[in-house]
This record gives sequence, C-alpha cells and structure tokens, in this order.
Amino acid sequence: MRSEFTAEPSSNDAVDRDFTVGEVPAVVRAPATDADRAPAFGVIIAGCGPTGAMLAAELRLHDVRVLVVEKETEPKSFVRIVGLHIRSLELMAMRGLLERVLPHGRRRPAGGFFAAIDKPAPKGLDSAHAYLLGIPQPVIERLLEEHATELGAQVRRGCAVTGFEQDDEGVTVELADGERLRTRYLVGCDGARSTVRKLLGVAFPGEPSRTETLMGEMEVGAPQEEITAKVTEINETHKPFWLRPFGGGVHSVVVPAVGVVDRAEPPTLEDFKHALRAIAGTDFGVHSPRWLSRFGDATRLAERYRAGRVLLAGDAAHIHPPIGGQGLNLGVQDAVNLGWKLAAQIRGWAPGTLLDTYQAERRPVAEDVLDNTRAQRELLSAEPGPQAVRRLLSELMDFDVVNRHLIEKITAIGIRYDFGDGPDLLGRRLRDIDVKQGRLFDLLHRGRGLLLDRTERLTAGGWSDRVDYLADPTAELDVPCVLLRPDGHVAWIGDDQQDLDAHLSRWFGTPAD
Ligand SMILES: Cc1cc2nc3c(=O)[nH]c(=O)nc-3n(C[C@H](O)[C@H](O)[C@H](O)COP(=O)(O)OP(=O)(O)OC[C@H]3O[C@@H](n4cnc5c(N)ncnc54)[C@H](O)[C@@H]3O)c2cc1C
Repeated sequence: MRSEFTAEPSSNDAVDRDFTVGEVPAVVRAPATDADRAPAFGVIIAGCGPTGAMLAAELRLHDVRVLVVEKETEPKSFVRIVGLHIRSLELMAMRGLLERVLPHGRRRPAGGFFAAIDKPAPKGLDSAHAYLLGIPQPVIERLLEEHATELGAQVRRGCAVTGFEQDDEGVTVELADGERLRTRYLVGCDGARSTVRKLLGVAFPGEPSRTETLMGEMEVGAPQEEITAKVTEINETHKPFWLRPFGGGVHSVVVPAVGVVDRAEPPTLEDFKHALRAIAGTDFGVHSPRWLSRFGDATRLAERYRAGRVLLAGDAAHIHPPIGGQGLNLGVQDAVNLGWKLAAQIRGWAPGTLLDTYQAERRPVAEDVLDNTRAQRELLSAEPGPQAVRRLLSELMDFDVVNRHLIEKITAIGIRYDFGDGPDLLGRRLRDIDVKQGRLFDLLHRGRGLLLDRTERLTAGGWSDRVDYLADPTAELDVPCVLLRPDGHVAWIGDDQQDLDAHLSRWFGTPAD
C-alpha cells in the first residue's frame, strides 16, 4: 500500500535538451546560414502583459527556454483596477502565487457584477476561494512578471516583434531593431491590436466599437456630497459612469465619451470636461489629471488560435467590453491551458493532437464570454426595452439557480471542457479540497499531472515523470480515482488500470521505458 505523494523527476531531459534545460541564453543572433537554423529558444512570447507573463511562467515550470519580448520600455502606468475572479484566484493558488497576490488587493463578495445588477453572491459557491479580488492591473502584471523571471524566463523590454517567418523546424522572429531570433514556437500575447495575429493573417471578425468610454484619475473642485448626489441620480439610468474618491486626493472617473473623431489620438482633460458636462451638466471642476485613457467596446474573436508554430492567447485572440471584468482572467486562463501543452510538444512527449486541444477548449470559452458581455452591454443601455429586460432579469436573479449560473459563468468555475461522455465532473476543474497532505492546490505548484487514488491499487506507471501520485487522498473525493491535468481539470474518473493507462496516453503521451 502506498500512502505518499510521489513526484518523480523528469526522465525526459534528453529529449529536446537544446530547448529545455539550463540557463536561458543571452539573446542569440539569427543564423547566418541554413546550416545553423537550430532554434535557440523553445518559445518566444510577444508581449509581457498578464497573459504573456503567465504563459512564460507556465513554460518555465517545464524548463522550456522562454524569451518574452515586450515593446514598452516600462510597465504600464495607468491604474486600471481589475477583478481577479474565482478561477484565476484558484490558478494563483495552484501555482503558489495567491499569498503573494492577496496583500495587494481588496476582497469583495463574488456577486453583483453581472451587468452591475446588485445581487448578493450566491450561497455556498463551490470554491475555497469564493470572492473577487480587486487589484490594480499594473500590480498583477508586476507580480506575474516577477514570478516568470524567478522561474528563469528572460524578459526583453523596449523591443517590438515586427515580423516572423515559420518553417518546418521553427520560427525566425524579427524585432524592431532588426535583430532576428530563432525559436521553435512563437506565441502572440501582444494584446488587442496584435501584430502577430495580423502578420499571421488570422481574421478577427466581430463587431466594431459602438461607444467609447473615458477613464482616468484627476482632482475635483466640487464638494463630495454634490458629486455623490449627482452620480447616484445618473446611475439610475447610466451604469458605466462614476466619479469616486480613489485615495491620495484623486478621483477615479469613468464617463461615456462624446464626439471622438480620431481614436488614435489620446484623450485630453478637455474631453473629460466635455463628457462630464454632457452627462451631468457640470464638469465637477476636474483638474490636475494623473493619467487619462479611453477604451471602446468592440467584440471580436480570432478565427484560429494556431497556425503551424505560431499561436495566439489573451486579448490577441479575443476582445470584448470590460463589463463583468473578464478579459485579464480569460487571458491568464488561456495561458494555463496552453503552457503545459506547448511544453509537452517541446519536450517531445505530447500526443499528436494535444496542442490542438488548446483552441478546441479555449475558443468556445471565449465565445461564451463574448456573448455574455454582449448581453450585459444591452442590459446597461438606457433605452426602455433593455431597461425592462434588466428589471426582469433582476427579478429572475432572486432565484438562486439563476444568480449562481451567471456568477459561475463570469468567474469561470462553471467551465466544462468536452472530454467525451462521462460523469459531470469530467472536464471540470476540481476545487481546492483538503487532502491528507494539506490542500490539493499545493500539490499542483509544479504544473504536473496528478492522480488522486482512493483505491490505492492504481499507478501512474511509466508516466510518473509527468504525473504525480497520491494514494488515499481524502474522503472529500466521492469517486474512486481522478486524473488531473496540470491545469487542474479532471481528465479521467474510474477504477480500472487499463482504462487509466489509455487516458494517461491520451493526455500525457507515450510512457517512459
Ligand atoms: C477599463 C478596463 C477595465 C478592465 N477591467 C478588467 C477586469 O476587471 N478584469 C479583467 O479580467 N479584465 C479587465 N479588463 C481587460 C484587461 O485589461 C485585458 O483583457 C488584459 O490586459 C489582457 O491581457 P493581455 O496580456 O492579453 O494583453 P495586454 O494587457 O494588452 O498586453 C499586451 C502586451 O503586449 C505588448 N505588445 C503589443 N504589441 C507588441 C509587439 N508587437 N511586440 C512586443 N510586445 C507587444 C503591449 O505593450 C502589452 O504590454 C479591463 C479593460 C479595460 C479597458
């Protein structure tokens, strides 16, 4: 009988040694001749936003040589507060990052964010991390970048990806300064206007922006009582509007823009004053801005997430209005889905279709997010029809099952990948249950598969270099044995070794000798 958690070192180091083990090289010049076109990197990532940084870290868990190329010299300065939803918090816990992230954010109840309809969080959400964490986006980006570099990713700032060519062995990536680098795979995590997506010729169909919104931080001249009264009155019909104290003497302002002529032109304080007068009849004496920005509400989805050795993730693959606060979460979750699959491909053990499951699993999730933001946008309209639908939905959300469905959708804990027929748990993520050794997610820090075996008869066998084993894990699990993928999704449930072996092959390739 085995009762220990076993985590064996990889025996696959010989495979693809050039791209995996050891120090990350200094940037390598492009090969002068065809003879030495061997890629220096396993993966080059364009863009060090939250998606790129998370993906780099995931790849480093598997010793893949990673270079992140970021066009900006400095991290972003504008303080967009984003909400980390339950699934992203779970992923942070799964990679040992939650303790690092929590002190920088504010916990809020996991409810009330579907179209800003004011409802409490449903009771008993199925997660040990059932809250929303409000956190400034620059902070989460810094923490993820630190995590990636601590794991050995190389980040090169002030350098844009401007071109690439792919062939059978790899991709030659061209940078803005003319340098050319070889890599086995290139991933475009370069945001909504993704250069990689455009160069790849992947279509980005959807709806263009219908409305523009101004967002910024500035000081105000008007007394707070006057501001509060006016904002409350306007919010009765216009939800995407606020002007509220942000600390340090500044107010955070979000207001619908008026008369935007050139979207490429950055907004001015005068634009804010103009927009505030249009909606509130006063500009509240705003002055001394810290930063000003503008965003649209376009909704688009990349037709493909992969073309040969080039892939897309995060905003490069999907954009939608920020209602419900899902974009960053979606990108980070893309990264965790893709990381281990791409690493498996590079290390040489990926089953033939594994990399294609990235698009098969994640594109439908993005489609669903796009749809729920479309719906939310309608519900925020001041027109009488949408307002009536909003009132009706608000009534329906008093039914727990409706409220729960919407919150599980937005927080991404309701996702079930299609792994074929099987119990409801198959394809879903497993929550952070108590196990004999502590918490389940603590066993997933290294990004490996995990077998939770209550029968104590089964084994990860020839896959134990990729899959850890835990016998008699917990009574909380009400099935005999579960195989978890590195992203925490349930890949198999059963009690038969032969069936298990077939599923280990399906997800983790050929067993080691
Ligand atoms: C007002 C507002 C509020 C939001 N609130 C939330 C929220 O509450 N929750 C949430 O989940 N999401 C929210 N979002 C969405 C979220 O900000 C984005 O979805 C998220 O930033 C996407 O991350 P990303 O890494 O995919 O792309 P980005 O953050 O856009 O990062 C892309 C990076 O690539 C770099 N880059 C671009 N081109 C190149 C190139 N050619 N070469 C190299 N580097 C390049 C860029 O400089 C950038 O650093 C909000 C968005 C807005 C506008």
